[in-house]
Amino acid sequence: MTSIVSGNSQIGKEPCRSPSCDSSNPLLSSLPLELKHYEITQQERKDIATLRQKMGSLCTPRYTDIRLCRFLRARDGNIDQAEQMLRKEMQWRAQVNPELLMTEIKEHPAFQVLMDYWPVSVHGVDKYGVPIVFERFGAVDTSGLMTKTNQDILIKVHIYCMELNDALMSAAWEKIGAPIGYIHLEDFDGLGMKHYSNQGLAVMKDIAKIDECYYPETLRKFAVINAPGVFKFFWKLAKGVLNKNTIKKFEIVKKVDDTLLQGVISKDNLPIYLGGTCTSCPHVATQCKFGGGKAPKI
Ligand SMILES: [Zn+2]
Repeated sequence: MTSIVSGNSQIGKEPCRSPSCDSSNPLLSSLPLELKHYEITQQERKDIATLRQKMGSLCTPRYTDIRLCRFLRARDGNIDQAEQMLRKEMQWRAQVNPELLMTEIKEHPAFQVLMDYWPVSVHGVDKYGVPIVFERFGAVDTSGLMTKTNQDILIKVHIYCMELNDALMSAAWEKIGAPIGYIHLEDFDGLGMKHYSNQGLAVMKDIAKIDECYYPETLRKFAVINAPGVFKFFWKLAKGVLNKNTIKKFEIVKKVDDTLLQGVISKDNLPIYLGGTCTSCPHVATQCKFGGGKAPKI
């Protein structure tokens, strides 16, 4: 990943060498029409420069043009609001220390159980090279897992996953030169009232807030498949928690078929449980492990 000019010291001195600033980037120029609106506009480039100047030396190499653009978009281009949001994100990172959390959380006994029994993972890439996230919430033994963990641990594990995803997605978006988002494919086969609890709802609210405030503008599409009748109940709850822009990105479809994939996800990038042809699974350490199942005792 290329680092982008940090702070304002180099503005105007040298042309930025980041792929996101390079209009001759072949990946960027070959973006299809439906993704063109993700391209950084001239106005946004100016606003990014202004935002960078306001933040000064706080903008470490982590804060690339693409990342700053995501904060601006999350605030509809309002530079002052984006600055406030960014400052809060930096304060949050200073408090939570995600880098340390990434190693510390692995020592908790519930970590590996959650990794093994909560089937969610990055697997394969879409045709633009952006990793895809697959999840089978309907296969999660939520009540079993809840007895082995608590709200605090679940949120920490979520941050762990978001950090991993953020690094992978950001690298892909930098390469393309535009924050085109990623696809989340959620399989609700097996979903039932057993998945509902007040504690679970509280975790969901916290997680939605974290994603919205600290990992903004990441999602391109959230595709829901195999939703049973009871999904209506959960969908109502979700709509009360998620923001309007996120809700617009949901697409509820019956199953994985060509209409859903639209040539964006090829079969060899689909896990086997969705009818994919992935056999060697070079994508992830989890080896197509999307089984879920009853959580064991720790
Ligand atoms: Zn696989």
